[in-house]
Amino acid sequence: MSIPPGPCCDGPRCGAIKRETNHWFVTIENSAGFSVQPVELFDRDAYDDTVSLNDICGEACGVKRLQVWFTTQKENNATTE
Ligand SMILES: [Zn+2]
Repeated sequence: MSIPPGPCCDGPRCGAIKRETNHWFVTIENSAGFSVQPVELFDRDAYDDTVSLNDICGEACGVKRLQVWFTTQKENNATTE
């Protein structure tokens, strides 16, 4: 019997486990932009496979994800120019 993976934080080097009482966020990332929503308001059905969705435990990990996103933009610019 396999244990389903619990939703854990996708922040770099975090891995916090989501609990009922925590206020989590979801980052919605693709080449067109980066946005953040509280997980309570997030509608996963509104997004398709072209976006990267990441569960985030709080501000610190959200900022780290944004930094990763900016790095990706720089890399994309470097390869297209
Ligand atoms: Zn985290």
